[in-house]
Amino acid sequence: MQKIHLLSPRLANQIAAGEVVERPASVVKELLENAIDSGATRIDIDVESGGVKLIRVRDNGSGIAEKDLPLSLSRHATSKIEQLDDLEAVATLGFRGEALASISSVSRLAITSNISDDISQSQEQKHGWKAEAEGRDMAVNILPAPHPRGTTVEVRDLFFNTPARRKFLRTENTEYKRIDEILRKLALSHFAIDFTLRNNGKVVHNFRAASTQLEQERRVASICGKAFMESALYVDVEAAELRLWGWVGLPTFSRSQADLQHFFVNGRSIRDKLVTHAVRQAYQDVMYHGRHPAFVLYLELNAADVDVNVHPTKHEVRFRDSRSVHNFLYRSLHRAVADIRPGAELSGQGPSEVAEKLNTSDATGRMEGSQLDSSNQISPHQTLSHQIYPHQTRMGLHANPSVAGAAVESVAEGMAVYQSLHEPSQAPIHQTSPNQEGVVTSASSSDEEIPPLGFAIAQLKGIYILSENALGLVLVDMHAAHERITYEQMKQDFDADGIHSQPLLVPVTIAVSQSEADIGEEHQALFETLGFFLQRAGPESLLVRQVPAMLRDSDVEPLVRDVLSDLITHGSSDRIRQHLNEIMATMACHCSVRANRKLSIPEMNALLRDMEATERSGQCNHGRPTWTQMSLDELDKLFLRGR
Ligand code: ADP
Ligand code: MG
Repeated sequence: MQKIHLLSPRLANQIAAGEVVERPASVVKELLENAIDSGATRIDIDVESGGVKLIRVRDNGSGIAEKDLPLSLSRHATSKIEQLDDLEAVATLGFRGEALASISSVSRLAITSNISDDISQSQEQKHGWKAEAEGRDMAVNILPAPHPRGTTVEVRDLFFNTPARRKFLRTENTEYKRIDEILRKLALSHFAIDFTLRNNGKVVHNFRAASTQLEQERRVASICGKAFMESALYVDVEAAELRLWGWVGLPTFSRSQADLQHFFVNGRSIRDKLVTHAVRQAYQDVMYHGRHPAFVLYLELNAADVDVNVHPTKHEVRFRDSRSVHNFLYRSLHRAVADIRPGAELSGQGPSEVAEKLNTSDATGRMEGSQLDSSNQISPHQTLSHQIYPHQTRMGLHANPSVAGAAVESVAEGMAVYQSLHEPSQAPIHQTSPNQEGVVTSASSSDEEIPPLGFAIAQLKGIYILSENALGLVLVDMHAAHERITYEQMKQDFDADGIHSQPLLVPVTIAVSQSEADIGEEHQALFETLGFFLQRAGPESLLVRQVPAMLRDSDVEPLVRDVLSDLITHGSSDRIRQHLNEIMATMACHCSVRANRKLSIPEMNALLRDMEATERSGQCNHGRPTWTQMSLDELDKLFLRGR
């Protein structure tokens, strides 16, 4: 054995750098976080050769005093926390006091700073200082240097002295893309800061400070794409000490990869299983298997309720009360997704128009019947159509045999029949009259009186319903739409009547761990509400005596196991419900109108009205859209008709 000796400061720092300085993008992340923590309102980033040759970050923040400069470059030195208690409620992005020391041990780093509030040239000359660390002991050299208030950190020749790390670097282009990605994340979470990124001397991004929601949406659109913003709902929900706000993509905007998912906790971008799980659960009913929702979401909670000191790169956090965070996320998003129905849909406007409407959405976008605080609020991106629904009556195709045979072919007559079926006194008076040739024309009705999906005109090839609304033409996939309505109706009936449970002829014994058996016993009542009768049969076994009638042909053992594991990790489980929903979805699909079935105009109108009144009716149970709008403008374009 060799004698024990202390490592040189540089070597110790290089070892620490192994954890946080993986590649140029990690350097950019640390420097940007420092600039943000310093209260900067403007940050300029310069990158050369994928960041390997140069990374320069300049900010107009608080700056560092001359006497503090040497400390800023030493390990375990920070201005952000002082004692253990501070670690319990970190409000800054940084707190470990390691980044600058680590980076300067594996590159040529210079830091120039000025704390002077006086921005006159002569003052700058006096007050700027530049520091560099040298040698094995990383002694810091300080020289006067001109600099306006704020800090510039320049990192050159990254990994020049650690060839092993250099070998792991990818092409300049790949490394640059990672830097770009880091900047996007930070720009998404710090709207108030103006960011500029230059790559090899060329300006690539200039994200202007965004204070209004409209400006924020522009930034989100430029980072996540216009298409996302155009099919996103704005959400803002508060409950107890939690607030969730941001933008969630409509289920029809789903992606094949989980690549458009940004989640921030108190301004920090994080990856978290609990969050992913809650989001997936909220969307599960409206999304194809294997598809991923898109979102940009911000969770805000007391700094003391979240532990950020879990991982050196600070990509993970731990919530003190993870169950209520999970519940809150799930409920808020579930509600937002449920609120998507015709009339609440976006109609392809640019982000600015969409956002303009936002100002009016607050009054109508309130959550109803939720278990959250009454102050909770979800404001879909546009004026919600709740108030213009003519009625909320539910009427399935099967429910109106009296009109099924009637050959009513005009909107006017359809309307009349429809009105006679649905609270005529409250229904809007919509005057239309077929002209001589039987062509339907709208006469002097104001647009607001037309329901969002309009009135049926015809059926196409036994598959699509053509309908006229205020904007133009609506096309509805009648099977998909009916399937969704039937499914939602089944779920409602199911909820209203409770779960029909049935004893098993031969009870099923399940061998489990002691803690699983405990959990099963503890949640016996929960299982019962879901139609299961579960008993403890021994220290490590459970007995299933009764199951929901709908599940009598399913293999219940794996389901019970999964529920137990959910209960252990998340404190709750929706698997049984999910399973039942899947079965109902299959049944709904079989019960729904098949293609090639001829519908009368009143039947079609009844279907349109049901869609308007049904939650999640913008998509069928598989996440396909149920309807689409072709506005008059779009039709005019098709015919090159100038207006
Ligand atoms: P940490 O951010 O964890 O505190 P760093 O090594 O990143 O550790 O930075 C050390 C200290 O240097 C910070 O605590 C801060 O006081 C100071 N500092 C670093 N960068 C800046 C900056 N851009 N503006 C002002 N102060 C800075
Ligand atoms: Mg830092």
